[in-house]
Amino acid sequence: MKKNKKKIRYDRIVIVLIVLILIIALVFGGIKLLTNKDTTKNTNEIKMIHLRDLDETNKFVSENELKLEITYEYNDEKEKDKVISQSIKVGDIINKGDTLKVVVSLGKLDKEKLASDNINELGTVPIMMYHGIVDMKSSETEYTGGNVDKDGYNRTAEAFREDLEFYYQNGYRMVRLTDYIDGNIDVEYGKSPIILTFDDGNENNLKVKGLDEDGNIIIDENSAVGILESFKEKYPDYNVTATFFVNGGLFNQPEYNEKILKWLVENGYDVGNHTENHLDIKKSTSEQVNKEIVSVYKQLDEIIPEKYVNIIALPFGSPYNKEHENFGYVLKSTYNGATYETKAALRVGWDAEYSPFDKDFDPTFLKRCRAYDNNGKDFDIEMVFKLLETKRYISDGNVSTIVTSEKNSSKISDNVNKEVITY
Ligand SMILES: [Zn+2]
Repeated sequence: MKKNKKKIRYDRIVIVLIVLILIIALVFGGIKLLTNKDTTKNTNEIKMIHLRDLDETNKFVSENELKLEITYEYNDEKEKDKVISQSIKVGDIINKGDTLKVVVSLGKLDKEKLASDNINELGTVPIMMYHGIVDMKSSETEYTGGNVDKDGYNRTAEAFREDLEFYYQNGYRMVRLTDYIDGNIDVEYGKSPIILTFDDGNENNLKVKGLDEDGNIIIDENSAVGILESFKEKYPDYNVTATFFVNGGLFNQPEYNEKILKWLVENGYDVGNHTENHLDIKKSTSEQVNKEIVSVYKQLDEIIPEKYVNIIALPFGSPYNKEHENFGYVLKSTYNGATYETKAALRVGWDAEYSPFDKDFDPTFLKRCRAYDNNGKDFDIEMVFKLLETKRYISDGNVSTIVTSEKNSSKISDNVNKEVITY
């Protein structure tokens, strides 16, 4: 009996011990959980939430300093700007700097609306060719419209302002030449791309009046860039940009040339090659061609390394055909051990160019439209834009899709790797 009683007491002790161990385990576990929570706070771990729309996504991404990649898709169920899917699951722990991918709806694909809005990304794109912008009124010249000289190579500041207003009011929005060549046309729905180019590095393209107290250039408001900058403020959705093609004298302001080049590439403009001495390539030796092209690239390389564009505007638009023996040296130039490749060449032209998604698009021989006045004849501005009315590129507002009519779809290049939508 006594022995039995003792045994029972031992059993009780064992039970009490087990309970105690359990309590200790729970308490420590709890503390550990709390500690973990604290660590979460300290390392800025974030719990992924359910994202409903684009606004919510942008807010979440900026608050938590994430990287965002958005793909847009047409979707029958989700309204425009609603999130279709997110790459990180709700509740997952993420860190600052993580990449979040979301698919956002463009709304229901309404082919009738695309058709009635004439959305056509196989349409043509005007690449405008300017030279000098001269600070005077059109009434002060003796030539047609806003032409400063007989052939209309130079334009008055007044006419240039009117051109920019005209393009904007007619639904054109600027794109970088290099983006157009790469098929990256980011223009809002229903609007058309336009490209501006300036040849010769005329002083009046970006005239420096002096330096401010911080050493920054003060730009003459009546020079081309001064005027462009005023439109940047007037119409923020115009996407103001242009490409300037320079010779060896750059912008012909020796004391400011370097500052000008740096300012341009930092402010959304591009700079390309127009040969060292405005060389007529069809009349030159291969050595001259190589030397003159390499020389300008080297200058740009020294001042704005990796920030200029490997694009050449052919002086005099020469040679006139790609079969010319010197043309190969335009695309690949070697001199004194240095080799430069050129991805696109511009000639002097007349009409608008093909869409970059068109089978016939050839970036190595792009034609431009002369920005001059000639009473609506000989491909002046008036004539070019009248012709564009029936064939212009009109964007669907989405860089990852190509929208055009069924009729145009046979013209789409095989090299295009974007979703094609036809109506
Ligand atoms: Zn020129």
